Amino acid sequence: MGIEEAPSGFLLTTVEGLAGYFRKASMWPVTFGLACCAIEMMAAGASRFDLSRFGMEVFRASPRQADLMIVAGRVSQKMAPVVRQVYDQMAEPKWVLSMGVCASSGGMFNNYAIVQGVDHIVPVDVYLPGCPPRPEMLIDAILKLHEQVQNEPLGSNRKELAAAAEAAALEATPTHQMKGLLR
Ligand code: SF4
Repeated sequence: MGIEEAPSGFLLTTVEGLAGYFRKASMWPVTFGLACCAIEMMAAGASRFDLSRFGMEVFRASPRQADLMIVAGRVSQKMAPVVRQVYDQMAEPKWVLSMGVCASSGGMFNNYAIVQGVDHIVPVDVYLPGCPPRPEMLIDAILKLHEQVQNEPLGSNRKELAAAAEAAALEATPTHQMKGLLR
């Protein structure tokens, strides 16, 4: 992280490249934890792992000042509308990181009380496996997201991409209805 990562040929670079660079270097996560994975997320923000090295020292208490949602833990059916409301209140452009197997697919909670993948509620940009993922894994996933953000198009293109991702997620077959190797 630093000026050495700025897109090469400063005067010749595209506006999109510059915007992507500034966005990835100033991402603010919303303060949000659902279950045990949240403890690892908190550890990632503390002094030993120090997320602030990546411009992310501020976990915002208000979704309106945040552009990254880290879904840390299983999402119960009861919490699902709350997760969606927080997502809707976040500033555009915004990204979602699904942390841990529970958030990504329901994990070992294959039952009626847990949403079988948070992508049925919000569009997910990065999935992070593990139970729980270590803070190093979360930081690695965040760096992968930074790569995506760096190369994302601007303006209406970005909106179309987000709308398409959301439509695909909402139309997808829920994991608990899938047959075959999953069972
Ligand atoms: S993935 Fe593991 S650590 Fe994370 S919420 Fe599920 S049970 Fe807890």
